Amino acid sequence: MSMTMTQKILSRHAKKESCAPGDLILASLDLLLGNDITTPPAIDIFEKSGFDRVFDNEKIALVPDHFAPNKDIKSAAQCKRMREFARKQNIKYYYEQGQEGMGVEHVILPDNGLVKPGDLIIGADSHTCTYGALGAFSTGVGSTDLACAMASGQTWFKVPEAIRVNLTGKLPRYVAGKDVILYLIGRIGVDGALYRSLEFTGEGVKELFMADRLTICNMAIECGAKNGIFPVDEITLSYLSEKIPGGYQSAPEWLFPDEDAVYEKTVDIDLSSIRPMVAFPHLPSNTKEIGSFPKIEIDQVVIGSCTNGRIEDMRKAASILSGRKVKEGIRAIILPGSQRVYKQCLKEGLLEVFVDSGCVVSAPTCGPCLGGYMGVLAEGEKCVSTTNRNFVGRMGHKGSEVYLTGVEVAAASSVLGYIADPALLEKEGEA
Ligand code: SF4
Repeated sequence: MSMTMTQKILSRHAKKESCAPGDLILASLDLLLGNDITTPPAIDIFEKSGFDRVFDNEKIALVPDHFAPNKDIKSAAQCKRMREFARKQNIKYYYEQGQEGMGVEHVILPDNGLVKPGDLIIGADSHTCTYGALGAFSTGVGSTDLACAMASGQTWFKVPEAIRVNLTGKLPRYVAGKDVILYLIGRIGVDGALYRSLEFTGEGVKELFMADRLTICNMAIECGAKNGIFPVDEITLSYLSEKIPGGYQSAPEWLFPDEDAVYEKTVDIDLSSIRPMVAFPHLPSNTKEIGSFPKIEIDQVVIGSCTNGRIEDMRKAASILSGRKVKEGIRAIILPGSQRVYKQCLKEGLLEVFVDSGCVVSAPTCGPCLGGYMGVLAEGEKCVSTTNRNFVGRMGHKGSEVYLTGVEVAAASSVLGYIADPALLEKEGEA
C-alpha cells in the first residue's frame, strides 16, 4: 500500500506493514515532552493512577519555560512540582533555568539533538508539531495522554488524511517561513487542515532554511493540522550533523513518501509571490499583505518565542535595528529562544545592538507569548509579535490586539512606530 511520510512513521511505530487514514493504532513513542503548565497535572494523574516509574527516563524531556523564571508563587509551585518529579524519576532531559541547553521547549529540543527523522514524538503543548521540520511526526496532546504515555511509552492515534503543500519558487527579500505559513493559513483558514497531516513537498523546499521549516511546522496547528512534515534533504542532514551527538549522516530510506501516496488535496504555493504577511486580530488566518492596509500605530513589539526565537531570527532583528532607535513611546522586547541563542547573540554583538537601539532583552522564556509576564498588554494596546497566536486576550487584556508578523516587519515596526514594511527603512531619513 502506498503511504505518505506520516503514514510510514505511524505504521512503523505501530509495528504494522501499513496504515490508512482513519485507522486507530497504538504506537511506541521516541520522545515525550512536558512543560511547567502541562506537566504538573500529568504528574498528578500519573501518581493517582498508581504508576511509580516512567517507562524510560531517557525519552522524556521536561522544560520549565512558560512562566519561568517563576513569575509568581503559583508558577514557582508548578516548577517545583516538575523539578521534584524529574529528580525522583531521574529524567535525563530536565532543563533547569539558566543551564546550557535550556530555553523555550520547541527551540531547544531540535537544537539539543533530541529529534531525528522518522521519530514519533508527543508533547503536552500544541506547538509540538514544530519537529516535523526534521522529518519527524510530532503532535500535541493533553496532560492525561502525557501521563499515560509516561507510564507506558505508547499512545493511540487516529491516522490522519494528508494534504500536500507543493512549494515552488524562491522567497523574496524580507519574506521568510513565517510569511509562508501565515499565507497558507490565510488561504485555507484556521480549520483548513483539521486533523490532517500537512506534507510540504516540491522544488521550493530546498529554498527554505531549517529555521524557516521549523517556523512553518510550528504553526501547522494554527490551521488545525495534526502535524506538519518536511522531507529530509541536504539541509536537514547538515542541520542534524551539527546537533546530534556523534553526527548524523543519512535519512532512513523508508521515510520518503511513495510516488503514488494519496493526498486529499494539493495546495500549490509559489514562494516568489509571497509578500511579508500580517495576521490581524484575532485569528492567525486573518492575514493581509504588508502595505495593503492603512497605517496602524502600535504600543509594543515582541520578537522571540518558539516560532521566531532562533539565532537566525535574532540576526534578522539586529540587521534592522543596527544603528537605529526604537521609536519613542514604543516598547520593544526581545526574547532569545534559548541560553545558546542568548550566548550566540552575545558573541556576535547582537545584544549590544538591541540594547543600544532601546530594546528590553529578556531571559529565554515564553513570557508574553501567552500573556504570562515580560510584556503583558493593557486594554486598548496594540502589539506586533513574532509569536504564533493572536486570539482575544492572548497577550494580556481581552481589549488588547496582537498582530502576528515575521521578524523583519516586527523590528521595522518598532523603529517606525506603526506596522511597517522593512523595505521602507532602506530609504534613509525615514524614522
Ligand atoms: Fe507556547 Fe508561546 Fe511558549 Fe511557544 S513560546 S511554547 S507558543 S507559550
